[in-house]
Order: sequence, then structure tokens, then C-alpha cells
Amino acid sequence: MSDEDYESLVAEHRKSQKEIDARIKSISGVSMQEITTELEKEIEQAKNKIAPQKTPACPECKAPVKPGDRFCASCGAKLEWKMQ
Ligand SMILES: [Zn+2]
Repeated sequence: MSDEDYESLVAEHRKSQKEIDARIKSISGVSMQEITTELEKEIEQAKNKIAPQKTPACPECKAPVKPGDRFCASCGAKLEWKMQ
């Protein structure tokens, strides 16, 4: 391979690299937005699955308790509502 051939190959490679970069930017720019929107939806759905109605649980027996209850209806443990 002559130097000239090599130079032209490098130039060609750089050119196509730039084109690929530009394509990736334009493609990923759109799809990343879509992916982010989809992910946010899925995260919201996952959150709702984990805590359907934000039901608090007894720290002792993990039974669901009503917000504001002073004692667990299941085991009688005293409940504290520091954050409310
Ligand atoms: Zn309990």
C-alpha cells in the first residue's frame, strides 16, 4: 500500500466515521427521549405495584395498618407516625 492510498483510506475512514457519529447522534437523540419517557412510565407503574395505596405496615409483624392507628390491629405493637 502506498502512502497516498493509505492517506485516502484514512480520509475515507474519518469521513464515514463522522457520518456514523452524526447518524448515531440523530438516532439516539430521538430514541433516548422515547426511551426516557417509556422508562418514566414503567417506573411509575412499578412504584404503584410496590405501594398500591401507600399502605403502611406494622414495624413488628409487617401487617398492613391504617395511617394514624396508634396500635397494630394484628399484634398490638405501638405505631409511630413521625412523618405525618
Ligand atoms: Zn403488628
